[in-house]
This record gives sequence, structure tokens and C-alpha cells, in this order.
Amino acid sequence: MGKIAFAVHGGAGVILKENMTPEREAQVRVGLKKALEVGQNILTTGGSSLDAVTEAIVILEDLPEFNAGRGSVFNHFGKHEMDAALMSGRELTTGAVASVTGVRNPVRLARAVLEKTPHVLLTSEGAEALALELGLPFESEEYFYTDHRYKQLQQALERNQTQLDHADDGEEDKKFGTVGAVALDQHGDLATGVSTGGMTNKKYGRIGDSPIVGAGLYANNRTCAVSATGEGEYFIRGVVCYDISARMEYLGEDLTRAAQTVIMDRLSDLGGSGGIISVDASGCISMPYNTPGMYRGFLNDKGEAVVRIWEY
Ligand code: ASP
Repeated sequence: MGKIAFAVHGGAGVILKENMTPEREAQVRVGLKKALEVGQNILTTGGSSLDAVTEAIVILEDLPEFNAGRGSVFNHFGKHEMDAALMSGRELTTGAVASVTGVRNPVRLARAVLEKTPHVLLTSEGAEALALELGLPFESEEYFYTDHRYKQLQQALERNQTQLDHADDGEEDKKFGTVGAVALDQHGDLATGVSTGGMTNKKYGRIGDSPIVGAGLYANNRTCAVSATGEGEYFIRGVVCYDISARMEYLGEDLTRAAQTVIMDRLSDLGGSGGIISVDASGCISMPYNTPGMYRGFLNDKGEAVVRIWEY
């Protein structure tokens, strides 16, 4: 049986040590560690990379600290519209949902699109109808409500700007973000996933990079699996995740070089900020970001769950 590899993220942005309370830092570290352990259990017992990615994302969606599922940010009208997607590197199968409301775990709905429909991407009411049909859990607006996200919306409305979850708002408790995971399983299959509430004060109906194949995620067993976080519009314009895979495939670059070049040069040149986590078919992990911090974690060679926010 082959090597396993696993990494998760909880968003990138202006995450400053001096603005963060020890409690918040601890909550993020505990959440990411738990997600890593869930994925690790699946992978070490021969489970699939797609299962590991799905279940780790469910853990993070259920935690209010992260901008996905329960802790999703508010749109301009004070509603939650969530995006999520999964992709398998074996046959490039993909399932994605965009602008869904009330669905407890958007990533499970994305999985249903992948496995139970001939489609790749369903949006809003159509996606919600599928969730109802399959009996997936829905939650009330109160479930998705968090005080700090509401305050973020008020601030963004005052400034009349659309705001990345981890924008520099000077508030110590607002640096939590989009979630994602990438995995290599014992069978040599790569998978990736991502889930988000998007950006605070986004327009009604705005869809970010997260459910767009090639922009917010990409997986191909021939190259790598990538999951992104950051200003979605730039990730769509730069086709960031696919660009990393394409550089490996067409230029013969290794994962680290391809990922660094795309984030540090190409995304930065476009004016975009954010980061990615990625793993290649040999289990090498690369997690570059061009922001002050990125919530991220990975399994090291000893199988220990390592969580980092800045360099540490
Ligand atoms: N990429 C997400 C979006 O633009 C936001 C994030 O990563 O926090 O919807």
C-alpha cells in the first residue's frame, strides 16, 4: 500500500499575531487538528482521499470559527449563501454547489452532486431541492448566525466594500476563513475539496472561486490536488489551481516550484491575495500564501498533525 498525505486549511488573509487572542488561536488550532485527525483515520485504514477530504471539511463546517457552513459570513442582505466543491483526481469527477442557503453541510451536497447526478455544478434553489430530495439536514438562520460575522457585515456596509473574511479590520476575533483539504490515499488517488460562505457584504448571487473547477480547486492524479482560499475573483481570473497542475504537466515543474510561482508571481501580479494547499502524487505537500498568515495543517512524516498560522 502506498504513502498517504493530508493537509487542511482554514483560510488565508491579514492574520496578525498581535491582533489575535490566545483563545481564538487555540480554537483555530484545535479545529484544524481535529480535521487532520479525522482525515488521517480514514486514510490510514485504507479509506479514499475523497472521503478524507469530505469528512475533514464537515468538521470545519460545523465549527463557528471558520467561514464555511455554520460560521459563514453574511452577504449584503444579511443572508448566508454558501459555495462548496469536491474533485477526485482519478477520473476528474467533480461535484459543486453555489449560493446554497440553509444546508447544514454544503460539502455533503457537493458530494451528492458528484455521486448522484450527471452534473458538475448546481446552484441555489436547484441545489437545495437536491438536498431536500436526499434528506440532507437543513438548519435555521439562527444556526448560521454568529455575532462577529454580523459585526463584520455592519462594518463592511459602512465602508461600502466587499470584504475578505480575514481582511485587516483591526479586530482580533475576525480572522477566520474558508476551509479546504487535499489528500493522497493508499491507492494513489488524489482528491481536493473546499467550502465557504464567500466574502462579507458580497452581492446577492455572487459566486466565488470555491465551486469553480480550476479556480478554487483542482485534482488530477497525474499532477496534484489543490485547494484555495483568498479573493475569489482573482483566483477565477488566474485559474489558479489549474495553473499549478498545468505547469507540472506541461513544463515539468515540481509541485513546490509550480505552486510558489503561481501564488507568489502570477496571483500577486494580478493583484490578488490568498493561498493554496496542495499535494502531489508522491505525497509532497506545498502550502504557499502571499498574505501575512494562513490557517493550515498537515500530517508530517511521523504521522503527527502539525498546525501553522504564520511560520509556526
Ligand atoms: N475564496 C473565497 C471566495 O472568494 C473566500 C475565502 O477564501 O475566504 O468566496
